[in-house]
Amino acid sequence: MTAAAATAKEPPRARRPGAWALFANNRLAAAGLVILVAIVLVALAAPLLPLPPPDITDPANRLIRPLQEGHLLGTDQLGRDLLSRLLYGTRMSLAVGVSATLVAALIGSLLGLIAGYAGGRTDNVLMRGIDMLMAFPYILLALAIVAVLGPGLMNALYAIAVVNIPFFARNIRGITLGLARREFVDAARLSGKSNVAILGTEILPNVLPTIVITMSTTVGWMILETAGLSFLGLGAQPPQADLGSMLGEGRKLLFNAPHVSIIPGVMIFAIVMSINLVGDGIRDLLDPRLRSGALARPAARTAVNRESVADAPREENANALLALEGLNTRFEVGDEIYHAVNEVDLKLNAEDCLGVVGESGSGKSVTAMSILGLVPTPAGRIVGGRVNFHGDDLLSVPLERLRTLRGGAIACIFQDPLSSLHPLFPVGEQVAEAIRAHQPLSKEEVRQRTLELLQLVQIPNAEQRLSAYPHELSGGMRQRVCIAMALANDPEVVIADEPTTALDVTVQAQMLRLLNRLRRERNAAVLFITHDFGVVSEICDRVAVMYAGRIVETGPAEDVIHAPAHPYTRKLIDCVPVLGEQDRQLDAIPGLPPAVNRLPEGCAFADRCDRARDDCRVGNVELAALNKEGRAVRCLYPLVEGAEGSG
Ligand code: SF4
Repeated sequence: MTAAAATAKEPPRARRPGAWALFANNRLAAAGLVILVAIVLVALAAPLLPLPPPDITDPANRLIRPLQEGHLLGTDQLGRDLLSRLLYGTRMSLAVGVSATLVAALIGSLLGLIAGYAGGRTDNVLMRGIDMLMAFPYILLALAIVAVLGPGLMNALYAIAVVNIPFFARNIRGITLGLARREFVDAARLSGKSNVAILGTEILPNVLPTIVITMSTTVGWMILETAGLSFLGLGAQPPQADLGSMLGEGRKLLFNAPHVSIIPGVMIFAIVMSINLVGDGIRDLLDPRLRSGALARPAARTAVNRESVADAPREENANALLALEGLNTRFEVGDEIYHAVNEVDLKLNAEDCLGVVGESGSGKSVTAMSILGLVPTPAGRIVGGRVNFHGDDLLSVPLERLRTLRGGAIACIFQDPLSSLHPLFPVGEQVAEAIRAHQPLSKEEVRQRTLELLQLVQIPNAEQRLSAYPHELSGGMRQRVCIAMALANDPEVVIADEPTTALDVTVQAQMLRLLNRLRRERNAAVLFITHDFGVVSEICDRVAVMYAGRIVETGPAEDVIHAPAHPYTRKLIDCVPVLGEQDRQLDAIPGLPPAVNRLPEGCAFADRCDRARDDCRVGNVELAALNKEGRAVRCLYPLVEGAEGSG
């Protein structure tokens, strides 16, 4: 079968759950929406319902209690039907609150966009104007505006809108300020777009989610403010009903006829609460970090749901420092299951450096993060296998023990030091914090240890650098600080997740030498995640090559590099440029890895493999031993002889 034919048969791409499915996943937001829709529908249907007019008085039937015939919610002090006034009052309060929100959002966002984009004098003039508005307590400002314009619902609307303009203007100006200096805006300028076009097509789409989120979270507040003005007699005027004026009228009868004030109070509470819940749901929905999975924040450790688990490590791993046995980690997004890590076995002894190599998305980082339960749940979940550390299964130890191991006996170094370090704390303080988290040392001892660590990772002028902030250091220096933090508690295992990818080649070489020296001096084992075989040849003793969540080849690094057995390993090695060999063809791997939620039958690499035969596409291709030195390959027709499945 050709790759083209295989592609033609490829099942449709997995769809992410839609916006509605994600929203419905947030139970509180969905409940808020149901309540809000019910209130709005009933309020809109008020003229169609068999209700008496809301303003008709009937003194003979004043202050009737609720649940009486003809007056479901009773009557007020003038004998007006409370249900009728409640529904008409709700219509009015919703209309005023939503209108005030729209006006404030429109004017405030426009001011914020212009100020943030133009900068300089325009920004200064607009923001000083906004500051003047903010200088007054907002409710006093609203009262002053209504006092000038005169009492009435429309004037209350203007007042509420005006006092909320600064809120939108400040928020949107801050975001626009950051966006206006981004490269995509420069590119739009270079393409000849006008300022108005850039604001409309480049900046606005980026700030729109923030505007929507701000609106959804403030509309409830504005309804409350409108009710407040009406309560003070400055909004709706008699006999017009709105929730605030009903509350104000009922206040005098709180002890004689509490239902007159409680009923509009409960309605205000229900509206504001439901709008806030819906606002929270919309905010979560528009947050790209939460959009890919469920709408919950990640748990403190990865969820583990194993059907069965071995009581003890396998015999061959009994004395291993760290051993992964049949690890299975997946992501559950809606109905889709992404098998990120499948039956992965890895083993590390003291001083070992094991390289885990593969393209982006091959599962190497998820494998490493599963060790300490750092894969976010939702949507990540460990569904099988054991992670043995000194024989203990880390997947079943209590969270407290896992916390002591994180940054203690098992430390991590991540790819981007700038995002790993806190931008607002000096680096010395951050290294000290890593020490204090695990060691009860005095202040002076912590300072001394911090200094030693910075010197150990060869930071020049270490003493002066203690007070430097991350942005004051170069990329290489920042990564040295991260390595110092990882070594702070003499870890037995260091997980290094592409720690040199963001560095230039000279700094990369220094970092590799440093890591190599430190692991030998301190007997630490290193699990080195990388996509670069050049890096593997520099530092690793053993290597495991991952493809589509599985180990496809493993063995001593030197043997694998000089005589790869799996066609994928061969291709990865051929992609590494060699200095001085400009005539050498870099053999790019054709096609893309398969989606891990639609893994094909047989060998996952078959569509990209030039040695593929029909039998590669059936059954399960097992990892087969090649020799007694621990070499193994998952291929039916490996490039070197010796595998049980070799053809
Ligand atoms: S089993 Fe080996 S030869 Fe067959 S497709 Fe996979 S990698 Fe290629």
